[in-house]
Amino acid sequence: MSLSNNNKEVVFVSGASGYIAQHIVHQLLETGKYKVIGSVRTQKKADLFKERFKDNKDLSFVIVPDISLLGSFDDCFNKIGHQIDYILHTASPFFFESKDVEKDLLIPAVNGTKSILEATVKYAPQVKKFVVTSSYAAVATFAMDSDSKNIITEKDWNPITWEEALSNGVDAYYASKKFAEKQCWDFLKEHSEEAKFKLTAICPVFVFGEQLFDEDIVPGHKLNTSCEFINALVHSTEKSPVDLTMFGGYISVQDVARGHLECLTNDNLDGKRLILSEARFTFQTIIDIIRKDFPELTNVSKGVPGSDKKRLADVATLDNHVSKELLGFKFKELGEIVDETVNQILRVERKEQN
Ligand code: NAP
Repeated sequence: MSLSNNNKEVVFVSGASGYIAQHIVHQLLETGKYKVIGSVRTQKKADLFKERFKDNKDLSFVIVPDISLLGSFDDCFNKIGHQIDYILHTASPFFFESKDVEKDLLIPAVNGTKSILEATVKYAPQVKKFVVTSSYAAVATFAMDSDSKNIITEKDWNPITWEEALSNGVDAYYASKKFAEKQCWDFLKEHSEEAKFKLTAICPVFVFGEQLFDEDIVPGHKLNTSCEFINALVHSTEKSPVDLTMFGGYISVQDVARGHLECLTNDNLDGKRLILSEARFTFQTIIDIIRKDFPELTNVSKGVPGSDKKRLADVATLDNHVSKELLGFKFKELGEIVDETVNQILRVERKEQN
């Protein structure tokens, strides 16, 4: 046990202002078992989240302005590293639009991961577990996922090279996640003497579900990258271009957060790569749920109702039964996730109108 107050173990969460990380911080605090230190980019964000979490005495923040810079975690780990029992490394850029994908996506993901690993062995050698928020993007490309002959499991890696990744934002994001996660596994091998922590990689598919705080929904503005897919469909019309060929796996944000927490207490997850996915969806699946559950949204694009079945019959099999069994809890279904996401959007928009 480290020097934490009240005998509570200390969890460091990088990128604590992020969509997924806020749920992780919330769940950690709810247990009453942990003290949480989150990294955010600015003091303004630290103050905002202190306030949102109602000045919870078990929550504090450190400032890490830019994970692109090598050594970016040194200053804060030099100060608080000795307190940390667990690290959940979620910080990484998640967007697809950029004019310089190497600078905006690849370098921050890879340098950020290298920096936190190096700071861990240097200033926090007592850390027991390190969980990296990787992605299904590190596992399979859309092309691999589209080939109905493929069976994708936790053993797969996307084959995108650094050079190929430079051609567009989507490939760059996929590669950023692959190179960042690989670096963790390689680091453990190369530093087996100093790196004593157990590593788990969480690889979620598309993460949907409500924002932890209503304030993160600003009518007329985009949501975080994954939830924006649902937000865009809520605000679609018959004229909106909706790509009915696009598909993916889905998982709820609460289940992703819970998956991170499970890694702290379940030693069976040590050294594992976990794919967090409940099942597949297409935009049509989401449209059909919205139109059924929110009949008042009469403008929403109809698409071709029910056509998702045919589309999903012709894609790779995502076999993550090993991850599901290891985690041992049931993931939420899409209907419930879409309903909670849309309900929150509508609640905030109606409040704004009144
Ligand atoms: P998000 O809301 O955009 O969170 C990303 C976090 O990383 C934010 O706290 C952000 O800080 C921080 N960050 C990004 N670039 C940074 C930089 N250069 N320096 C310092 N901090 C930086 O996205 P999210 O959806 O919660 O994603 C969190 C993690 O889950 C990412 O690793 C992502 O790849 C992974 N993931 C997400 C999904 C999904 O569907 N949402 C699926 C699979 C994996 P600011 O808020 O200050 O920019």
